[in-house]
Amino acid sequence: MSKINTPNPVRGTQDIYGEAEERFAHVVATFNKVRRLYGFKGLQMPVIEPTAVFARSLGETTDVVSKEMYSFEDRGGDSITLRPEFTAGIARAYLTNGWQQYAPMKIAAHGPLFRYERPQKGRYRQFHQIDAEIIGAAEPAADVELLIMADQLLRELRIADGVTLNLNTLGDTQSRDKWHSALVEYFGDHRDVLSEDSLRRLDTNPLRILDSKDPDDRGISFAAPRIDDYLSGEAQDFFAAVTAGLDAAGVAWKRNAQLVRGLDYYRHTAFEFITDRLGAQGTVLGGGRYDGLIEQLGGKPTPAVGWAAGIERLAMLIDAPQIAGPDAVLIPLGHAAETAAIKIIADLRRAGLACDMAYKGNMKKRMTKANDSGARFAIIIGDTELAAGKAAVKSLADGEQADVMIEKLPEFLGRA
Ligand code: ATP
Ligand code: MG
Repeated sequence: MSKINTPNPVRGTQDIYGEAEERFAHVVATFNKVRRLYGFKGLQMPVIEPTAVFARSLGETTDVVSKEMYSFEDRGGDSITLRPEFTAGIARAYLTNGWQQYAPMKIAAHGPLFRYERPQKGRYRQFHQIDAEIIGAAEPAADVELLIMADQLLRELRIADGVTLNLNTLGDTQSRDKWHSALVEYFGDHRDVLSEDSLRRLDTNPLRILDSKDPDDRGISFAAPRIDDYLSGEAQDFFAAVTAGLDAAGVAWKRNAQLVRGLDYYRHTAFEFITDRLGAQGTVLGGGRYDGLIEQLGGKPTPAVGWAAGIERLAMLIDAPQIAGPDAVLIPLGHAAETAAIKIIADLRRAGLACDMAYKGNMKKRMTKANDSGARFAIIIGDTELAAGKAAVKSLADGEQADVMIEKLPEFLGRA
């Protein structure tokens, strides 16, 4: 007989279960709570998009587009890409649906993303993000609102203390272009020390050399020209308004003049919330202003700003959520009791009580199951109790036991 091999999972994917799933779910639930407090509407969107959505907006030469996208031709011959990020798809949805009438529009999304990366702790090929965007707002107030929201999220997850907001401005297009030329000149004089990747970036987008993780690149980036020397008056005012807003709200921030974002579309505000608790994968949340993006997708010039955070990275940072056990575990003994227990547990659950049934093994095994589940009560239903219309309710906290009329169980458990 030939042996059937179980297929391996795709490299860089995970099955998230147990405590890891509780952490994951807690991050998403906290995000949903916070985004509602800030008036962000949820958006469920396709995982697949036409490849052009990303190729055009992220920049052909970015790492994501040039090396990381999962793209394929579908059976109709169209080039499709598994979304590697949310922003471009949200911008596409904004244009497709004619949402200009709602501007400024506050949108929140979460779900899986796909990038062909080298898998390691905190870096996967299928990962998940929470994402918040404000589309159609040119005012620094929008940047400020998003940053205060991100800060509140981290506070509610109780990780704000270990995470620092690194803030920068990339200036307006004019400032950015001047800085760009200065960087080309500077790095051009240091070709001999640049990594191979950064030599390529020198021709395509030198800003991204500042984002390099190569130690030699980092060494030379240290003394590179700074955006501050090229900022227009308008760009300076914009940045000043953002920092004043953060100060007014009591959100701590640190200027990081080296900070650039991986994608081409950023202008003005750029930021990352960084921790030293996750090794090399220390950026938990990143974003900024992307005033040029919607135009690149064929829309009218539309200012926008947003951020995204990796759910797995946030989930690793938080304390394990305390999950309460069920209200009760039912233990039916005997055939009649087993049948009766089906109605009893259905009634309890319909009354909003969390219940489980232990119907396998001897009494000792079942009590162990009830105790291990962290339940408040075990409800033991034997034939004698059943004949009297009762059940034995045992408090698992103190071992105290009482007979309770079956129809009174929901009330009894609800009160206890
Ligand atoms: P990095 O520099 O770590 O590659 P990035 O700039 O590519 O990050 P963004 O595109 O800004 O990341 O995504 C925002 C957040 O999503 C990151 O800060 C991180 O928390 C998370 N993230 C990005 N890529 C991955 C991945 N491959 N696996 C897990 N989380 C990721
Ligand atoms: Mg990346």
